[in-house]
Amino acid sequence: MVREGGRELTEEELKPFEGRPAATAAEGKDPVNEPMIRHWCEAMGDTNPAYAGPDAIAPPTMLQAWTMGGLSGFEGRSPAHDELFALLDGAGYTSVVATDCEQEYLRPLRPGDAITYDSLIESVSPLKTTKLGSGHFVTTRMDVRVGGELVGTHRFRILKYTPAARESAGAAKAGGAVKKLRPRPVVNRDNAGFWEGVGDHRLLIQRCRTCETLRFPWLPGCNACGGQEWDTVEASGAGTVFSYVVMHHPPFPAFDPPYAVALVELAEGVRIVSNVVGVPYDKVRIGMPVRLEFLAVDEELELPVFRAVEAGEV
Ligand code: ZN
Repeated sequence: MVREGGRELTEEELKPFEGRPAATAAEGKDPVNEPMIRHWCEAMGDTNPAYAGPDAIAPPTMLQAWTMGGLSGFEGRSPAHDELFALLDGAGYTSVVATDCEQEYLRPLRPGDAITYDSLIESVSPLKTTKLGSGHFVTTRMDVRVGGELVGTHRFRILKYTPAARESAGAAKAGGAVKKLRPRPVVNRDNAGFWEGVGDHRLLIQRCRTCETLRFPWLPGCNACGGQEWDTVEASGAGTVFSYVVMHHPPFPAFDPPYAVALVELAEGVRIVSNVVGVPYDKVRIGMPVRLEFLAVDEELELPVFRAVEAGEV
C-alpha cells in the first residue's frame, strides 16, 4: 500500500529487527571522570555534595553520557541499527524525534570506572499516528557494564516519522492568510500544577517542604536537599528584568521578530523566561521593573508575561 509521504512497512519487514544488537562490546570513550562530572553539575545547576570531593559518585542520570560516541561515532556499532534506519528512511519516515528515556541504576559510578556497553533493538512498533506525523517507534536498550558487572540500563525510544502536513495542526485561517499559532506547552505530571495555576491566573512557584527552597521552573525534586515533597507559593507578580535578548533571526512561525525575550527575576527570588510587553523591544533594559499579567495569546492559550512598570507606578 502506498501512503502519502511513505510506504507502509509490514510486520514481516520490521519484526526481524527486534532482538538484534545495535552495538556490541562497545567502550566508553572516557572512563568516568571528575571533569565531566563537574561540567555536568554546572550545566544542570546541581550542587549535591555527593558529586564532589574524594568520595564523589557520578550523577546517576549521566549514565548515557559515558556511552556517547560524539561526532566521531564509536567502535562496536552493529549493522542492524543502520539497516533499520535505512529501511525506515527508504519508506519515507525520514524525520526523527526522541520521545522518552528510562534508566535503571544498579550501583553508583565513580571516577576511574571504565565503561563498556551492549545495545539491542528491543522493539519496533506498528505504524502509529501522532500529532507530529505517522511513523514507527524504535526502542533500544543499552546495558552498561564496568568490568563485566551490569551497573545500569538505559532504554531509549525514538519516533521515525513522516511529518504531518504543516497546515493541519497549529494553524488557523486569518483574513485569507494562514496564521500560525504559538507552540503549545508540553504539560506533564511534573509541571501540570504550574499550568493549572496559569489557568487560574496565578503564577505558582514550587517550594520544597523539607528545606523550603523555592524553585522554578518546576522539577520533580529539590536541587538543594533532594527532597521530593513540595507545595507552592503564589508569586506576588512583582519582578525585574534580570537579563534579556532580542530575537532577530531565525524567524519562527507565530512570532514577529524582532522581539525581546526576558529572564525576569521575581520578587521571590526565582527567575522565569517570558516576554516583556507594553514597551518596544529596544526599550527593554536590565533592572527594569515589571509586573505579571496574563496574556490570552489565542483562544486556547494563556501565558504569563510581564508589563514594564512606569516610574512611580510601582
Ligand atoms: Zn529542599
